[in-house]
Order: sequence, then C-alpha cells, then structure tokens
Amino acid sequence: MDVSTWMSLASDRYLPLMTWQRVAALSRDSLFVLPIGSVEQHGPHLPLLTDTLTVVHTLEAALHQLPKERPVYALPPIAYANSIEHAAFPGTLTIDGETLQKTVMGIGESLARSGFHKLLLLNGHGGNTAILKETARRLHLSSGLVVFSIACGSLWEVDPNELSEEEARLGLHAGQVETSIAMAAFPEWVGELPQAMLPPEDAWIGPEHAPVTYAWASTDWSESGVLGDPSQASLEMGRRWFNHGVQRLAECLSACLSWDPSRSSNRLIEKGGA
Ligand SMILES: [Zn+2]
Repeated sequence: MDVSTWMSLASDRYLPLMTWQRVAALSRDSLFVLPIGSVEQHGPHLPLLTDTLTVVHTLEAALHQLPKERPVYALPPIAYANSIEHAAFPGTLTIDGETLQKTVMGIGESLARSGFHKLLLLNGHGGNTAILKETARRLHLSSGLVVFSIACGSLWEVDPNELSEEEARLGLHAGQVETSIAMAAFPEWVGELPQAMLPPEDAWIGPEHAPVTYAWASTDWSESGVLGDPSQASLEMGRRWFNHGVQRLAECLSACLSWDPSRSSNRLIEKGGA
C-alpha cells in the first residue's frame, strides 16, 4: 500500500483521486465509506497506526471483490481519533470526541451537499464507538443521509474457542486477535510478540464482558501497552480471520448499496394496518 494515497490498488474507487466532474457524474445512489482508525500505542510489537492500517487494508481488499459496476467509493481515512485511554504512551496522538464528531459531521454534510445519500462509517478503534454512534444519529438528522456503521473488529467473527483463555475473556487491545490480523494484513510492521498482560476481573466485575464494567486506561495495569495475549497470535489464524472479514465486508457493502429505507418502513406500515 502506498500510504501517501492510502488506496493504491482501488484508485478507481477512491474519491480524492477523482476530478470534481467525475464525482458530479457518479450515481446519486452511490455508497461512500469513511474509514476511521487511530494513532495510538499498540504495545511494543505493533505500530501506532495499527487501527488505521487494519481498517484501510480491509476496505481496500473488500472493494476489489465487488463487481465493477457497483458504485461504492472510499473516502480518505480519519487517522486521528479519541485515544485518551492510551494517552500516557509516547506517540499516542489523541483528539477529543467532540472534534472527531465535528469532523465526521462536516464530511457527511459535504457529501449530502454534493447530492449523495449514503455514508458508511467503518470504525477500527473501540475508543471511537460511543461518540460515532451519537454522531451517526446526529448526522442522519442534520443532513438526511442514511448513515451506516460497522465495527471493523466484528467482521472477523472469531470463534472464542480458538483463543487462549486469557484472550477470550480479557483481550482488549494489541492481543491475539489484533496481532494475528496485523500479521496477515501488514506483516512488515509486526515486531517480536510480547507476553500477555491482562486486566483484573472477578465474577461480577470486568473491563468489558461482565455484568459490571469499569473505566480503564492502558497504564492502569500494563507497562507494555498490551491488554490481551499477543504471544498466541499466528499468521494462519490472522489470514483466515482477515479473509473472512474482507468477504463479509464486501457483502455488507452490497447490502448497504441496495438498502432502501422507504421500502422497509412501508412494510412496517402495511404490517400495522393488517
Ligand atoms: Zn487497535
């Protein structure tokens, strides 16, 4: 990948390499995808740009699977994100949620002004999730756009039985899953795999998958920045998960493209009237 343009292979689907006349001639029903990542510590073995690289590689590969005539286009990624939970590590470049929200709103409103109707937020960083959910709703209300959202990490559909016990329960960041995906998607940037570092839990309380959750920052328990078990990462698993995720994203893109919100609300009205 040429990071100066981000989408070296899919340039015919990359909006910023088009002229405005070409954009003006695109179908009004086109789907635009906004990749959102982060620049934040990912342990001693992965680059700061991991989330952004992951989301862009996944999108690029999925766009290549789409039939040529499907009008799906990529926007330049937002690399900076809300990474306050990793801010204590050198190199983490965080912006506040409000700034991220305003940026996404400005991009979406510009698309609507250009006459388009559909935007997909493809998010690669968990710390963005809450603010993007609110942003999607606000943007829908302010611009009339149909705003779709996909969490890139959900595309892999990892079977928890394949994970080490630590990773399955407590893997949050730069662990077995994320490291395996990086080995498949951008192996040249993966260093020596470090040991597991795990957040605390008991029967009731844990960082994410528990009845009671607590707010966390990576420096609470991890000197390396890892929260999970990267020592069990493998290229074989990463390739399998990544390829599955790419296939799944291609299917999601087609589904978003053919989605007609007026059709589904009519169905609800008909049901209610019957
Ligand atoms: Zn990450």
